[in-house]
Amino acid sequence: MMLVSRRAATFYTDFRYQKQIRTEVKGCRKRVLKRDLYAYFPVEDLRGIRRLGVEQDNITVGRFRLLRRQAKRVRLVPVSDHVRRLRRTKEPTEIALIAKAQAITDRVFGRILDRVRPGVSERDLALELEFQFKRQGEVAFPSIVASGPNAAKPHAGHTTRKLRRGDVITFDIGCQYCGYCSDMTRTVFLGRPDPVLREVYAIVHEAQHRALAALKPGVAASDVDAAARGYIRDLGYDRHFGHSLGHGVGLEVHEMPGMASTTKGKLQPGDVVTVEPGIYLPGLGGVRIEDMVVVTKSGYRNLTRSQKRMLVL
Ligand code: ZN
Ligand code: ZN
Repeated sequence: MMLVSRRAATFYTDFRYQKQIRTEVKGCRKRVLKRDLYAYFPVEDLRGIRRLGVEQDNITVGRFRLLRRQAKRVRLVPVSDHVRRLRRTKEPTEIALIAKAQAITDRVFGRILDRVRPGVSERDLALELEFQFKRQGEVAFPSIVASGPNAAKPHAGHTTRKLRRGDVITFDIGCQYCGYCSDMTRTVFLGRPDPVLREVYAIVHEAQHRALAALKPGVAASDVDAAARGYIRDLGYDRHFGHSLGHGVGLEVHEMPGMASTTKGKLQPGDVVTVEPGIYLPGLGGVRIEDMVVVTKSGYRNLTRSQKRMLVL
């Protein structure tokens, strides 16, 4: 736990981590509490503090009530949005770590394609992906490997379903490297694609291309969303594209800025965002293509290298 005041930034832990923090925590004061961190809040360090910001999206109800009980005179103020705004613009060192996380993802994805064949389960592929991510970093989020009709569910996860010839397979995967996340989706076909899904693939690919062409600093995120959504609407598939175009990525997989039709505000250099249009047809399958890009002074740099041409395995 961190407590940041005008005077100091202090990192708190308990006995279990006291050796680890010597090497793993840098640039702030460190305090090892004699009591269990989960049962005690160091109220003695709150002397003179009247307002305390809490990251309301990350604190449990139990911990909040503990804080309430032990620091009765302190006013608690939610600050998660403020912290998110501070984190939005990435520094070059952060961008390098996100790019590294994506480079690992590209490499691991390239290798998994050799294992895509009839009889292999979604779960086996997800486990192999996650094993490889953990060898080089961490898993940024539970991998989505969705095959056949499962690919019609945007956040399907993975099941024990075994791949069959004629399946469409969506991989939505990400690695975490030194705390920073990557996020990528690719959709591939095992054997001859269904003609409708073949057409849908071309539409999603073009929609993503149009969104990327619109993406630069000073442009409203909602206009980038509209570039993809308008194209999909013109071809009659808009009711099958029910999620936003993308989201910011950083220490968390979903952070600022949003990339939705309702997002207010413009893109800025240093934003790292995904562009991920998708079309989902119940019973048949779906297609999503997701790249992660960094907004630069003049446009954007695509951090995703995995190919987007329709891949038939
Ligand atoms: Zn994703
Ligand atoms: Zn995403």
